[in-house]
Amino acid sequence: MELDPRFNAGKGAKLDLDGIPRTEAGIMTHDMDMGAVIGLECIARTVSVARKIMTESNNIMIGGPNATKFALEYGFKKEDLRTEKSIEILNNVKSKIDSEDYKSQVKQLKEIDPKEGGTVGCVALDKDGKLASATSTGGRNYQLPGRIGDSPLVGCGFYCNDSVAVSTTGVGESIMKIQLARNVSIRYDEIGDLDIAVQKCLDELECKTEGKAGIIAVGKDGQVSHGYNTKSMYSQIK
Ligand code: ASP
Repeated sequence: MELDPRFNAGKGAKLDLDGIPRTEAGIMTHDMDMGAVIGLECIARTVSVARKIMTESNNIMIGGPNATKFALEYGFKKEDLRTEKSIEILNNVKSKIDSEDYKSQVKQLKEIDPKEGGTVGCVALDKDGKLASATSTGGRNYQLPGRIGDSPLVGCGFYCNDSVAVSTTGVGESIMKIQLARNVSIRYDEIGDLDIAVQKCLDELECKTEGKAGIIAVGKDGQVSHGYNTKSMYSQIK
Protein backbone atom coordinates (compact mmCIF):
# COMPACT_ATOMS: atom_id res chain seq x y z
CA MET A 1 0.00 0.00 0.00
CA GLU A 2 2.95 2.34 0.61
CA LEU A 3 3.76 2.09 -3.09
CA ASP A 4 0.21 2.96 -4.16
CA PRO A 5 -0.11 6.74 -4.67
CA ARG A 6 -3.77 6.69 -3.70
CA PHE A 7 -2.83 6.32 -0.04
CA ASN A 8 -1.29 8.76 2.39
CA ALA A 9 1.85 6.69 3.00
CA GLY A 10 5.08 6.23 1.08
CA LYS A 11 4.37 7.32 -2.50
CA GLY A 12 1.42 9.70 -2.21
CA ALA A 13 2.29 10.90 1.29
CA LYS A 14 0.93 14.31 2.13
CA LEU A 15 3.38 17.19 1.87
CA ASP A 16 4.67 19.23 4.76
CA LEU A 17 4.37 23.00 4.46
CA ASP A 18 7.89 23.20 3.00
CA GLY A 19 6.88 20.81 0.19
CA ILE A 20 8.72 17.76 1.51
CA PRO A 21 6.84 14.52 2.19
CA ARG A 22 8.04 13.15 5.52
CA THR A 23 6.72 9.75 6.46
CA GLU A 24 6.26 7.98 9.78
CA ALA A 25 5.53 4.39 10.78
CA GLY A 26 5.48 1.97 13.66
CA ILE A 27 5.47 -1.81 13.90
CA MET A 28 4.97 -4.07 16.93
CA THR A 29 4.75 -7.80 17.49
CA HIS A 30 3.06 -10.14 19.99
CA ASP A 31 6.16 -10.20 22.21
CA MET A 32 6.10 -6.36 22.36
CA ASP A 33 9.13 -6.03 20.14
CA MET A 34 8.77 -2.78 18.20
CA GLY A 35 10.33 -0.23 15.89
CA ALA A 36 9.26 3.23 14.78
CA VAL A 37 10.50 5.93 12.46
CA ILE A 38 9.67 9.63 12.31
CA GLY A 39 10.30 12.29 9.66
CA LEU A 40 11.72 9.93 7.06
CA GLU A 41 12.45 11.84 3.86
CA CYS A 42 11.68 10.43 0.42
CA ILE A 43 11.73 6.71 1.26
CA ALA A 44 8.53 4.85 0.40
CA ARG A 45 8.79 1.67 2.46
CA THR A 46 8.46 3.35 5.83
CA VAL A 47 7.21 0.30 7.76
CA SER A 48 10.17 -1.71 6.47
CA VAL A 49 12.51 0.96 7.84
CA ALA A 50 10.72 0.76 11.21
CA ARG A 51 11.09 -3.01 11.06
CA LYS A 52 14.83 -2.72 10.39
CA ILE A 53 15.15 -0.48 13.46
CA MET A 54 13.32 -3.19 15.42
CA THR A 55 15.42 -6.10 14.15
CA GLU A 56 18.85 -4.53 13.65
CA SER A 57 19.28 -2.03 16.47
CA ASN A 58 18.78 -1.97 20.20
CA ASN A 59 16.71 1.20 19.88
CA ILE A 60 13.02 1.53 19.21
CA MET A 61 12.55 4.87 17.50
CA ILE A 62 14.69 7.02 15.20
CA GLY A 63 13.61 10.42 13.91
CA GLY A 64 14.65 13.23 11.58
CA PRO A 65 17.69 13.28 9.30
CA ASN A 66 19.24 10.39 11.21
CA ALA A 67 16.24 8.22 10.36
CA THR A 68 16.85 8.88 6.68
CA LYS A 69 20.56 8.15 7.20
CA PHE A 70 19.67 4.86 8.92
CA ALA A 71 17.42 3.87 6.01
CA LEU A 72 20.03 4.69 3.38
CA GLU A 73 22.67 2.71 5.31
CA TYR A 74 20.35 -0.30 5.22
CA GLY A 75 19.90 -0.10 1.47
CA PHE A 76 16.62 1.81 1.12
CA LYS A 77 16.57 4.17 -1.84
CA LYS A 78 15.39 7.76 -2.00
CA GLU A 79 12.64 8.51 -4.49
CA ASP A 80 10.19 11.27 -5.30
CA LEU A 81 7.09 10.52 -3.23
CA ARG A 82 5.17 13.57 -4.43
CA THR A 83 2.18 13.20 -6.71
CA GLU A 84 0.32 15.71 -8.87
CA LYS A 85 -2.46 15.65 -6.31
CA SER A 86 -0.27 16.24 -3.26
CA ILE A 87 1.49 19.14 -5.03
CA GLU A 88 -1.86 20.63 -6.06
CA ILE A 89 -3.20 20.44 -2.48
CA LEU A 90 -0.14 22.20 -1.11
CA ASN A 91 -0.15 24.89 -3.82
CA ASN A 92 -3.80 25.49 -3.15
CA VAL A 93 -3.26 26.12 0.56
CA LYS A 94 -0.17 28.23 -0.10
CA SER A 95 -2.26 30.50 -2.30
CA LYS A 96 -4.42 31.18 0.75
CA ILE A 97 -1.50 32.15 2.98
CA ASP A 98 -0.59 35.76 2.46
CA SER A 99 2.39 36.14 4.78
CA GLU A 100 6.06 35.17 4.67
CA ASP A 101 6.26 35.40 8.44
CA TYR A 102 6.43 31.99 10.14
CA LYS A 103 4.20 32.84 13.10
CA SER A 104 1.57 34.44 10.84
CA GLN A 105 1.60 31.31 8.68
CA VAL A 106 1.13 29.09 11.74
CA LYS A 107 -1.81 31.26 12.78
CA GLN A 108 -3.45 31.15 9.36
CA LEU A 109 -2.97 27.39 9.06
CA LYS A 110 -4.84 26.92 12.32
CA GLU A 111 -7.98 28.06 10.53
CA ILE A 112 -7.62 25.75 7.52
CA ASP A 113 -9.02 22.20 7.59
CA PRO A 114 -6.21 19.88 6.45
CA LYS A 115 -8.66 17.25 5.09
CA GLU A 116 -7.32 14.04 6.57
CA GLY A 117 -7.29 10.53 5.25
CA GLY A 118 -5.42 7.76 3.51
CA THR A 119 -3.08 6.47 6.22
CA VAL A 120 -2.55 2.70 5.94
CA GLY A 121 -2.42 0.05 8.62
CA CYS A 122 -2.33 -3.68 9.01
CA VAL A 123 -3.00 -6.14 11.81
CA ALA A 124 -2.15 -9.82 11.56
CA LEU A 125 -2.61 -13.13 13.36
CA ASP A 126 -0.52 -16.01 12.04
CA LYS A 127 -1.20 -19.74 12.14
CA ASP A 128 0.80 -20.05 15.38
CA GLY A 129 -1.41 -17.46 17.08
CA LYS A 130 1.19 -14.68 16.95
CA LEU A 131 -0.05 -11.13 16.48
CA ALA A 132 1.49 -8.06 14.83
CA SER A 133 0.43 -4.57 13.85
CA ALA A 134 1.85 -1.76 11.73
CA THR A 135 0.79 1.74 10.67
CA SER A 136 2.31 3.97 8.00
CA THR A 137 1.48 7.59 7.19
CA GLY A 138 2.47 10.77 5.45
CA GLY A 139 0.92 12.75 8.29
CA ARG A 140 -1.48 15.64 7.70
CA ASN A 141 -1.69 17.98 4.73
CA TYR A 142 0.65 20.98 4.97
CA GLN A 143 1.71 20.11 8.50
CA LEU A 144 4.49 22.15 10.03
CA PRO A 145 7.84 20.54 9.22
CA GLY A 146 8.85 18.60 12.31
CA ARG A 147 5.29 17.83 13.36
CA ILE A 148 4.98 14.32 14.81
CA GLY A 149 1.66 12.51 14.60
CA ASP A 150 0.20 9.51 16.36
CA SER A 151 1.11 6.87 13.78
CA PRO A 152 4.71 6.20 14.91
CA LEU A 153 3.85 6.51 18.61
CA VAL A 154 3.34 3.24 20.41
CA GLY A 155 -0.08 3.02 22.02
CA CYS A 156 -1.44 5.80 19.81
CA GLY A 157 -1.20 4.79 16.13
CA PHE A 158 -0.34 1.16 16.77
CA TYR A 159 -0.14 -1.37 19.57
CA CYS A 160 0.34 -5.11 19.92
CA ASN A 161 0.78 -7.64 22.69
CA ASP A 162 -0.02 -11.34 23.05
CA SER A 163 -3.72 -10.50 23.31
CA VAL A 164 -4.53 -8.06 20.51
CA ALA A 165 -3.05 -6.15 17.56
CA VAL A 166 -4.36 -2.65 16.79
CA SER A 167 -3.76 -0.02 14.11
CA THR A 168 -5.44 3.39 14.03
CA THR A 169 -5.86 6.29 11.64
CA GLY A 170 -7.37 9.74 11.95
CA VAL A 171 -6.55 13.05 13.51
CA GLY A 172 -3.29 12.41 15.35
CA GLU A 173 -3.72 15.39 17.64
CA SER A 174 -6.86 13.72 19.06
CA ILE A 175 -5.65 10.11 18.95
CA MET A 176 -2.59 10.97 21.03
CA LYS A 177 -4.70 12.50 23.78
CA ILE A 178 -6.40 9.22 24.60
CA GLN A 179 -3.69 6.82 23.37
CA LEU A 180 -6.25 5.15 21.19
CA ALA A 181 -4.50 1.90 20.25
CA ARG A 182 -3.46 1.03 23.81
CA ASN A 183 -6.91 1.98 24.99
CA VAL A 184 -8.43 -0.62 22.65
CA SER A 185 -6.14 -3.27 24.10
CA ILE A 186 -7.03 -2.36 27.70
CA ARG A 187 -10.76 -2.37 26.93
CA TYR A 188 -10.47 -5.66 25.05
CA ASP A 189 -8.77 -7.34 28.00
CA GLU A 190 -11.51 -5.99 30.30
CA ILE A 191 -14.51 -6.78 28.09
CA GLY A 192 -13.38 -9.73 25.96
CA ASP A 193 -15.20 -8.52 22.84
CA LEU A 194 -13.22 -6.58 20.27
CA ASP A 195 -16.16 -4.89 18.52
CA ILE A 196 -17.40 -3.47 21.82
CA ALA A 197 -13.88 -2.41 22.84
CA VAL A 198 -13.34 -0.60 19.52
CA GLN A 199 -16.70 1.16 19.70
CA LYS A 200 -16.16 2.25 23.32
CA CYS A 201 -12.79 3.75 22.41
CA LEU A 202 -14.25 5.64 19.44
CA ASP A 203 -17.01 6.96 21.69
CA GLU A 204 -14.43 8.09 24.24
CA LEU A 205 -12.35 9.76 21.52
CA GLU A 206 -15.36 11.65 20.22
CA CYS A 207 -16.62 12.59 23.66
CA LYS A 208 -13.29 13.72 25.15
CA THR A 209 -11.56 15.24 22.10
CA GLU A 210 -14.22 15.57 19.37
CA GLY A 211 -11.71 13.61 17.31
CA LYS A 212 -12.31 11.43 14.28
CA ALA A 213 -10.55 8.13 13.78
CA GLY A 214 -10.68 4.63 12.39
CA ILE A 215 -9.47 1.44 14.06
CA ILE A 216 -8.64 -2.04 12.79
CA ALA A 217 -7.85 -4.79 15.27
CA VAL A 218 -7.51 -8.55 15.60
CA GLY A 219 -7.64 -10.51 18.83
CA LYS A 220 -5.77 -13.65 19.81
CA ASP A 221 -8.93 -15.69 19.27
CA GLY A 222 -9.18 -14.45 15.66
CA GLN A 223 -11.94 -11.91 16.20
CA VAL A 224 -11.45 -9.11 13.69
CA SER A 225 -12.89 -5.66 14.21
CA HIS A 226 -12.94 -2.40 12.35
CA GLY A 227 -14.73 0.74 13.39
CA TYR A 228 -14.66 4.42 12.56
CA ASN A 229 -16.40 7.69 13.28
CA THR A 230 -14.97 9.31 10.16
CA LYS A 231 -17.11 9.47 7.01
CA SER A 232 -15.65 6.23 5.70
CA MET A 233 -12.76 3.82 6.04
CA TYR A 234 -11.73 1.02 3.70
CA SER A 235 -10.63 -2.27 5.16
CA GLN A 236 -10.11 -5.78 3.90
CA ILE A 237 -9.80 -9.15 5.63
CA LYS A 238 -7.51 -11.83 4.14
N1 ASP B 1 -2.98 9.81 11.96
C1 ASP B 1 -2.23 10.51 10.94
C2 ASP B 1 -1.55 11.70 11.56
O1 ASP B 1 -2.18 12.42 12.31
C3 ASP B 1 -3.07 10.94 9.78
C4 ASP B 1 -4.05 9.91 9.26
O2 ASP B 1 -4.26 8.87 9.87
O3 ASP B 1 -4.62 10.14 8.18
O4 ASP B 1 -0.41 11.92 11.25
